[in-house]
Amino acid sequence: MDGKKRGFTAGVLATECAKADPHGALSVPVYQNAAFEFPTAEAMELAFTGRTADHAYSRITNPTVEHFERRVREATGALSVTALNSGMAAITNMFFTLARAGANVVTSPHLFGNTYSLLKSTLADFGVETRFAEMTDPASVATKIDRNTCAVFLEIITNPQMEVADLTALSAVCRAKGVPLVADTTVIPFPVFRAADNGVDIEVVSSTKYLSGGATGLGGLVVDYGTFDWSRSPKLSAAAKAYGIDPREAFTAKLKREIHRNLGAYMTPQAAYQQSLGLETLEVRYARASQTALAVARGLEGVPGVVSVNYPGLPSNRFHGVAVRQYGEAPGAMLTFDLASQEACYGFMNRLRLVCRATNLFDNKSLAIHPWSTIFGTFPEAVRSSMGLSPCTIRLSVGLEDASDVLSDIVQALG
Ligand SMILES: *Cc1c(COP(=O)(O)O)cnc(C)c1O
Repeated sequence: MDGKKRGFTAGVLATECAKADPHGALSVPVYQNAAFEFPTAEAMELAFTGRTADHAYSRITNPTVEHFERRVREATGALSVTALNSGMAAITNMFFTLARAGANVVTSPHLFGNTYSLLKSTLADFGVETRFAEMTDPASVATKIDRNTCAVFLEIITNPQMEVADLTALSAVCRAKGVPLVADTTVIPFPVFRAADNGVDIEVVSSTKYLSGGATGLGGLVVDYGTFDWSRSPKLSAAAKAYGIDPREAFTAKLKREIHRNLGAYMTPQAAYQQSLGLETLEVRYARASQTALAVARGLEGVPGVVSVNYPGLPSNRFHGVAVRQYGEAPGAMLTFDLASQEACYGFMNRLRLVCRATNLFDNKSLAIHPWSTIFGTFPEAVRSSMGLSPCTIRLSVGLEDASDVLSDIVQALG
């Protein structure tokens, strides 16, 4: 067994957990408390000044959450993992760690709706500029980077456009320019997509999706691979000096010692417990759901009423080569397809029987949504068009049902 993966499948940390627990509990106990008592004033001083790792308060650290973070660290081989209360909390914590007024972020306009709004509205109010570039065209990304660029940020398969950037080419541009590559990898989980091997320095994940084990609750992760030399970043090199640490650890130190404590969105113990269980079955569920997505995508091609199917696992897809190289032959459990009109999409949605009408991705149940009128429904039409959205698109997130059942429900709903 691959050493880096041992934390997953069970053994090592579960056993460690049982040894540490007075009752030998095989799953991590849920420490559902706010504060921790200290034996002495001296022990308190040591903990509060960071000289011991004792827990003091659950907004900052908690044994159940820390256990989950350690298991993800084992699974990814990262320098550090920080668990937050949602994917958006992870993305917000990451940008607050990297950016400051006057800095800019180079990214694609094809972003998760709240990430787009975080950049264009929330962070813009704090003086952080967003510059859009085509991530599938690394040369155009290079032209947007300057000395104030704090990150190149992308989603590894955009939702719902399903674009796949070549990460080797993009990371070469970032390396040459001295800028970190930050990726939202929610759509392909880390046992399959090894972010650091693809040149990603910082990974953010909505663990609400695959990791939670079936939409059990919200969660997010910031994963720092320790691959970037932050002495190139004015903000983080100053932090490294102030803390007296190696510049490669500056991002983790700034995030763990300051940002996540101040933003107050640490993962809750209950969520960490559920997500630790989700972690144990992640590879099995992902393998099943992604193979089903591939089968459904293949089955939908050529079905009357379906104008086009967008799934990078199909040889007809323009990103097929790069997607298969980076994410394997079944790249994820999300696909989209276009019907003739918005009315056709509504009729389809209303006739579904097995597939649920719901947002979210990577539940154990298959979910369908019309992104144009829902997730992006409050965006001005011109913005929606500039984001590459269409009123004719249905997004499907494939669950753990039988592939032929999912496909036959879709075919009957096409009418
Ligand atoms: C869902 C999602 C998010 C936001 O995650 P939450 O857990 O809902 O806050 C961010 N990025 C991507 C790609 C997502 O799918």
